Amino acid sequence: MNDAVAMEATRRRTQHRANGKASEQGEQPAQWGRAWEVDWFSLSSVIGLLCFAPFIVFFFVMACDQYQCSISQPLLELYHGETTLLSIWARAPSFTWSAAKIYAIWVAFQVFLYMCVPDVTHKFIPGYVGGVQDGARTPAGLINKYEVNGLQCWLITHALWYANAQYFHWFSPTIIFDNWIPLMWCANILGYAVSSFAFIKAYLFPTNAEDCKFTGNIFYNYMMGIEFNPRIGKWFDFKLFFNGRPGIVAWTLINLSYMAKQQELYGHVTNSMILVNVLQAIYVLDFFWNEAWYLKTIDICHDHFGWYLGWGDCVWLPYLYTLQGLYLVYQPVQLSNAHALAVLLLGLVGYYIFRSTNHQKDLFRRTEGSCSIWGRKPAYIECSYRSTDGGVHRSKLMTSGFWGVARHLNYTGDLMGSLAYCAACGFGHILPYFYIVYMTILLVHRCIRDEHRCGSKYGKDWKRYTDAVPYRLIPRVF
Ligand code: NDP
Repeated sequence: MNDAVAMEATRRRTQHRANGKASEQGEQPAQWGRAWEVDWFSLSSVIGLLCFAPFIVFFFVMACDQYQCSISQPLLELYHGETTLLSIWARAPSFTWSAAKIYAIWVAFQVFLYMCVPDVTHKFIPGYVGGVQDGARTPAGLINKYEVNGLQCWLITHALWYANAQYFHWFSPTIIFDNWIPLMWCANILGYAVSSFAFIKAYLFPTNAEDCKFTGNIFYNYMMGIEFNPRIGKWFDFKLFFNGRPGIVAWTLINLSYMAKQQELYGHVTNSMILVNVLQAIYVLDFFWNEAWYLKTIDICHDHFGWYLGWGDCVWLPYLYTLQGLYLVYQPVQLSNAHALAVLLLGLVGYYIFRSTNHQKDLFRRTEGSCSIWGRKPAYIECSYRSTDGGVHRSKLMTSGFWGVARHLNYTGDLMGSLAYCAACGFGHILPYFYIVYMTILLVHRCIRDEHRCGSKYGKDWKRYTDAVPYRLIPRVF
């Protein structure tokens, strides 16, 4: 059955090529997008991640719960035989039905907001782009429509959270912290369920068969996804929903819950906790303010939807991106003014570079180069590429502004911001620094992955671009 569907997809692809210009000209269209074949390194990384990623999340959360956020202590105790994996496991809070109820209400509420409350904020917030928007062209040449209402969902959710904390008192603002590990089991159930559903759906009823990728390796397909833009009905887009909500809407609520817990436990909130809340809230709000722009980023317009996005958005993101706040509940840190100021500056400068770089590319692409970057007309390299339907398309790669300094200065700014969150936690433990290590690996890998894809997409034009802008993240270093 599976092979039949895969063969059908291949047949359609071949037919498309035969109908398109590529075949008329005796050329194969460039194979851009995720790989069609899996090398051994990718396969072993995929299997390693599938096996270990859930334990990494458990390890960090458990280290806070049982060892006051020390990650060396459990390892040393295990090494010296003072504890066992079984006893660590036995001490961890288990699944509870009350956590399941909270989680089900949370996800159902986000689905309701996403599907049933069309965006109105774009009508009265100047400069905000929301409502129905076009995505980027898929490898098969399609342009999907999206209902962009993330900012509105974030605002409604946070207004309700505030109203509850101030007036209604239906639940305690520490509810997320108080159920953190039981909620993790629920998030895992959803993460695995949605990834498995997307995997099966790709074989049985794909939304768009031309945009499916079957590599022939089941683990790789499960992890990296087969369908490009799986949907239920016309509007429930898996990538847009799971990428932004419930994980990123939850991010700021989780931090607020940590802040409330600090207040409850110690009678005050530390400046480090406020810094983490403020810097991460800027990042989250930036995400929703620019949600229409995110439709053109790698997650939405190049990655297929598999476990990497499905489980990652449900579990990895809410649990590991919020480690700083969790740490500060167990280890409250009051920073000196100089330290706090340095962290704030690092975070804001990083954010400025991140946002300006992204904005420059967006402006440049939207206006097709008819704009002003740093007070001048932008310089660029003209490129062409083919989609799998054989169509030839033109594009431009900017070589001025931040994009002339390095090829991914947006990642550099992101990394500076990430370092600021970690540095806000002081230097007592290494656990909060996991985030900067992870983000460095993620963004360096992403940079290489993206450049590999751009190389296949643009061919010699990409080479001209890398000759003009030789560094990736830091000029003269990398
Ligand atoms: P980019 O926004 O950098 O997009 C890369 C794409 O831009 C390329 O594939 C290419 O696409 C196009 N491009 C490359 N160079 C140029 C150029 N010189 N001029 C014009 N277009 C160019 O990458 P991402 O989508 O990965 O990241 C978006 C943001 O999201 C980043 O700021 C990143 O830091 C952030 N991010 C954060 C994550 C997190 O977990 N916190 C995870 C991932 C990203 P095309 O094919 O259209 O030419």
